[in-house]
Amino acid sequence: MQFDRLYIGGEWVKPIDGGLRPSTDPSTGRPWGDVAYGGRADVDRAVAAAREAFAGPWRKMAPWERAALLRKFADLYATRVEALAQIESRDNGRAIRESRGDIGLHPQYWQWFASLADKLSGRTIPMDDSVHAFTSRVPVGVVGTITPWNVPLMAATWKLGPALAAGCTVVLKPAEQTPASSLALGEIFQEAGFPAGVVNIVPGDGATAGAHLVAHADVDKIAFTGEGATAKTILKTGADTLKRFSFELGGKAPHIIFADADVEQAVNAATGSAWALCGQSCALGSRVLVESPIYDRVVEAFRERAGRVRVGNPLDPATHMGPQAHAEQLAKTLDYIELGKAAGANLIAGGSRLAPSGMENGYFVEPTVFADVAPGMRIEQEEIFGPVAAIIPFDGEEEAIAIANGTRYGLTAGLWTGDVGRAHRVANRIDAGMVWVNTFRYIRWSTPYGGVKQSGWGRENGIEALDSYLETRTTVISTTGTFA
Ligand code: NAD
Repeated sequence: MQFDRLYIGGEWVKPIDGGLRPSTDPSTGRPWGDVAYGGRADVDRAVAAAREAFAGPWRKMAPWERAALLRKFADLYATRVEALAQIESRDNGRAIRESRGDIGLHPQYWQWFASLADKLSGRTIPMDDSVHAFTSRVPVGVVGTITPWNVPLMAATWKLGPALAAGCTVVLKPAEQTPASSLALGEIFQEAGFPAGVVNIVPGDGATAGAHLVAHADVDKIAFTGEGATAKTILKTGADTLKRFSFELGGKAPHIIFADADVEQAVNAATGSAWALCGQSCALGSRVLVESPIYDRVVEAFRERAGRVRVGNPLDPATHMGPQAHAEQLAKTLDYIELGKAAGANLIAGGSRLAPSGMENGYFVEPTVFADVAPGMRIEQEEIFGPVAAIIPFDGEEEAIAIANGTRYGLTAGLWTGDVGRAHRVANRIDAGMVWVNTFRYIRWSTPYGGVKQSGWGRENGIEALDSYLETRTTVISTTGTFA
């Protein structure tokens, strides 16, 4: 497939004030294809197309017809999973086995959102006989969706699915580092028969295309996934229009292992999720809290398993971990490793850049483990977004909860224990939008996902995903024909 056009108003068009730009393969550090990106004028075109579609065919379409289109899209998406996984792994370096696993679930997400499209009921409000009062759930309008480079298709699916189910129209602006797979969605929307302008896809830079979308007076809502610092800028940029915002931001998830847990299983989950996506996921358990009696055992397991991770070509199905997605992220991860060493944490595995044969310029890092990390160290407080696990010892529930809640984040958390009472006690006191007990990173279409504190506003997935794409309208009708 070609990526040299933007998808606007149902057509593949050349950028007006953007152009073509090479997209880099992070496993080689070299370009692998030219991708179209848009500027402000292209965003204007896309917003106008979305507005026209919202006012016209999309708004008038019956909800069950919208549902049928989404189901058709889901079926077509299912036939493209392998192609999309190849594009995404090429563009962001994620190991193909992970891309296949993630993207292979997306059709079910689309089916889920389709199933919600015709169930947007309001309620009748009991009043006296002189009026009939009821609520309706109406779409917010034109939605600007801004997505990150780590999971471009997942982020797009989690936003476009509920937005379209709610009856909104969309302008999707993927991250400048990894735009290709998002553009590939345009073909599927076209083939599924979505009316022109319902979905528009405009890759572009955050500071130009992204900021213009945010400030745009004709955009009713921004659905954003990315860094907290960017979200704060977006809030300021969009303030004049008082549009709606939902934010999926960073995390520094605590993964707590109590001594009474099934340690083998806990370690499987903790090591797997320390290095998944090369550490570039908001949900990963980057802080591993281990109760003192099992501390040495868990530290040793991490050290030993770090050495078994197969790092290399992301397109090789045997590869566990690919490169960091871009050069800035590689530099950031290596900086944090130095910070950890300087702070006195105990580096027990990894810690260096890697140069697999044939991919010497790729952005690879060793799976890295710091033990004896103290609460308050920067590697314990800040999101690194690299394959760096920080192991922290603790004694007892109170200390575990205090450490778990001791960051500005609150996205996900996990705990392992054999005591069901403790599971409830601790889960109930953790500041996180999602808590896993004796499992980790279980995320599905029907389980609401999102953060508390500085990890975000609103929820994606579940029935709750629709909330931020809908307004409640109250209608009051006089039954007597007179002014009540
Ligand atoms: P980022 O904030 O740098 O960029 C995200 C998007 O924002 C990109 O499309 C970028 O072009 C755009 N952008 C940048 N500046 C902008 C501006 N001034 N105005 C408008 N748009 C702008 O984030 P990233 O580095 O691409 O992604 C990594 C971050 O995303 C991490 O913090 C990670 O935890 C978070 N994330 C969160 C979730 C979640 O579900 N909570 C999922 C994935 C990633």
